[in-house]
Amino acid sequence: MANYAGPVKLVKKVTPGVLALRKVVDDVHTDARIAKKEGKLVGWSSSKFPCELAAAFDLNVMYPENQAAGIAANRYGELLCQAAEDLGYDNDICGYARISLAYSAGKRAARKYDKETGEFIIDPATGKPLKDAEGNVVIDEATGKPKKDPKTQSPYIELVDLNEINAMPDGIDKERALNAISPIRQMQIPQPDFVLCCNNICNCMTKWYENIARMHNIPLIMLDIPYNNTVEVSDSYVAYIRGQFDLAIQQLEELTGKKFDEKKFEEACANANRTAKAWLKVCDYLQYKPAPYSGFDLFNHMADVVTARARVEAAEAFELLAEDLEQQIKDLESTCPFPENYRVMFEGIPCWPKLPALFKPLKEHGVNVTAVVYAPAFGFVYDGLDEMARAYCKAPNSVCIEQGVAWREGICVDNQVDGVLVHYNRSCKPWSGYMAEMQRRFTADLGIPCAGFDGDQADPRNFNAAQYETRVQGLVEAMEANRQAKEA
Ligand code: SF4
Repeated sequence: MANYAGPVKLVKKVTPGVLALRKVVDDVHTDARIAKKEGKLVGWSSSKFPCELAAAFDLNVMYPENQAAGIAANRYGELLCQAAEDLGYDNDICGYARISLAYSAGKRAARKYDKETGEFIIDPATGKPLKDAEGNVVIDEATGKPKKDPKTQSPYIELVDLNEINAMPDGIDKERALNAISPIRQMQIPQPDFVLCCNNICNCMTKWYENIARMHNIPLIMLDIPYNNTVEVSDSYVAYIRGQFDLAIQQLEELTGKKFDEKKFEEACANANRTAKAWLKVCDYLQYKPAPYSGFDLFNHMADVVTARARVEAAEAFELLAEDLEQQIKDLESTCPFPENYRVMFEGIPCWPKLPALFKPLKEHGVNVTAVVYAPAFGFVYDGLDEMARAYCKAPNSVCIEQGVAWREGICVDNQVDGVLVHYNRSCKPWSGYMAEMQRRFTADLGIPCAGFDGDQADPRNFNAAQYETRVQGLVEAMEANRQAKEA
């Protein structure tokens, strides 16, 4: 890919494509809430269950992994993880699963309120410092500390149980209790009427979804996609998976009382392919040096790839974003909020509850994330059912290490990275387990330094900002030494 034609200006703007992508996810949530109110079925699905099958039946489907990421990013991860542990789930289980299981059991994060007046009780520890007209921080004379801007303060958060609230008699008390539940969309997802599970993501999925199905006494439609020891997917694997597609279709027919609509299925496949192509195109703009955007933005767009792949609106929004990026290149603009000095691949899922802490040292050192492994993981394009079966075998944790290394090294080369930052994610053991060997291979094959840090995608108790900062600093020093050695 060509580089910019001149010096790049850093601009702060939200482009039409980004706005369109936000709307797509909002609509997915709104549609599910409306469907539930209208008495229609709403399902929960693992992120790489073939959404094309559910789309053929016009089913509304929500995605617990994406929901858990949102809950964690909104700082409710610890509350919900702890709630799951109090229900008896082990602390070692993936944080997404713990959040989802607690939610499924009816646990919700809610704002504390005065039972007499219904007013929310503000947590004095929250909020930003109050500033005067000149922009100076206002100091409280009594305490000598900065005053808080009341507009930025928020209520205390507590754990409540939706089942207990629903059992209350109708009236103002019940209304207030329901109203106190956090309004973020991830805390307003309807409970499921059925679950769709595919273990290509990881085997934790199987038990997680079985538990949800048991809790609600609802059907579980399960697709077993075994771990693949070879780079190619064999014909016998494809036959095994095709057989399961047929069974899933039959189960969906029984669930909905409708016949499988082949036309809708083909439309969904066409949309999913179109979304995948546009998503890959957006990811590929990170090959520009400097990149036209911060790689952290890709993490935000994951919500669209996961929840709306088979919707035409998702395909259109990603195509629009690709056009925005093309225009930025022409206008010599980048929305990366700092000058890019180093480029890294970020390996793994980010620590959602700690995104600012994750971003800060990268920004300080001018390190842009220009490669993430999500691109090939969700950018799969196929033609026909056999190829679709093969495509669903290619999830990050279900491919052999040779395939995993080839994916990553391909992006590292194409996206011209100087180093790799590896998240050893306590929640995601299948992903983190083989990273030490991958790190070794990246350095041996590409001659680039790698640094790892310990963290967690959802449970903030497993992240240490000081350790992270030290590791980023170490990586920057190694990348600089590498650069100087090359220049010499
Ligand atoms: S792949 Fe990792 S993060 Fe995703 S559900 Fe499995 S253990 Fe959790």
